[in-house]
Amino acid sequence: MGKLDGRVAIITGAGRGIGRAEAERLAEDGAKIAVLDLSAEACGDTVEAVEKIGSEAIAVACDVSSAQQVEAAFQEVADRFGHVDILVNNAGLLRDNLSFKMSEDDWDKVLDVHLKGSFLCSQAAQKYMVDQEHGKIVMTSSIVALGNKGQANYSAAKGALQSLARTLALELGRFNVNVNAVAPGWIETEMTKEAAERAGISMEDMKEQFSKGIPLKRFGRPEDIANVVAFLVSDDASYISGETLYVAGGPSSSVV
Ligand code: NAD
Repeated sequence: MGKLDGRVAIITGAGRGIGRAEAERLAEDGAKIAVLDLSAEACGDTVEAVEKIGSEAIAVACDVSSAQQVEAAFQEVADRFGHVDILVNNAGLLRDNLSFKMSEDDWDKVLDVHLKGSFLCSQAAQKYMVDQEHGKIVMTSSIVALGNKGQANYSAAKGALQSLARTLALELGRFNVNVNAVAPGWIETEMTKEAAERAGISMEDMKEQFSKGIPLKRFGRPEDIANVVAFLVSDDASYISGETLYVAGGPSSSVV
């Protein structure tokens, strides 16, 4: 018997990277998975991986920064699976630049996807969770919530997600809904690979350089985050709410 048997989990940005690892991990624990990403094609590999594990999955095309698309996506999942028990707000992107050069569009895009997207999805999820009197929501913050040069937009969004988790935990606690945040350190995904490329270094060089400053002396893997999220959405974590758990290979003090 899996810890999440009978549960339905919506994971945003689950087409690749950390979201995909979370989809696979929660499926291993018995959850049915709604894989949300920008297009149905982007969800394909994850749906296949979940089905290989022996669970059910549905691909749902959804831009989380659009209220209309979020509403439709949650309806589609409820129509297919009947309920929504778990939401992992994971979708994200980077638009890095030093503040004095950051465009309004780069600011808006990052805040829209990370912060507004997590709010819209949580708002849609809580309708189901309040009615059924149980639910688990996880925000994806970052060690960059503590500040990082060239990431004013991303840092502000990731810091605010911790506040959003605390506030929703206060509002939804009486309905037996837990809301927490996970704050990853450096994780090896396409997002970090693309960031390395933009900085003009290889992923291997970036890993070697940054790992020196990480107490556990290694980059994280998507599974390191997925394992913690699997705990936070399980009944083992039923008395934890409003917290942010840093998963960064050491105490969270600075980015590198
Ligand atoms: P990734 O780029 O590999 O995957 C992100 C996914 O989100 C992609 O599949 C992308 O298509 C999807 N996405 C982007 N915009 C979207 C939108 N508007 N609507 C729906 N889906 C959208 O990134 P990742 O490294 O797997 O990161 C996942 C999350 O973890 C992000 O929130 C990121 O900020 C956070 N995070 C990552 C790291 C890291 O080192 N990789 C560290 C801390 C936090």
